[in-house]
Amino acid sequence: MHYFTPRRCAATSKIMYHDRAKAQQAADRSMVERNVLLWVYRCDYCGSWHLTSHEPGSYQRMRTASRALKPHSRKRGYKPRRR
Ligand SMILES: [Zn+2]
Repeated sequence: MHYFTPRRCAATSKIMYHDRAKAQQAADRSMVERNVLLWVYRCDYCGSWHLTSHEPGSYQRMRTASRALKPHSRKRGYKPRRR
């Protein structure tokens, strides 16, 4: 029996998909078979397509929120002391 072994990305060790349609197919299958929702994104390192369990949009929102916390804590009266 012939078995296809997917290539994996050197940077993320995720399965490399040649095009977006192939990756989207795999994402759809995981939704049906495992009830896991996956997003398709293009990798900056290898240029192929990967699947991620984190919604790219929500990840952006999280980073923006943590950055917004810093000026807030400064307003609460935190001052670095100098000798
Ligand atoms: Zn990659």
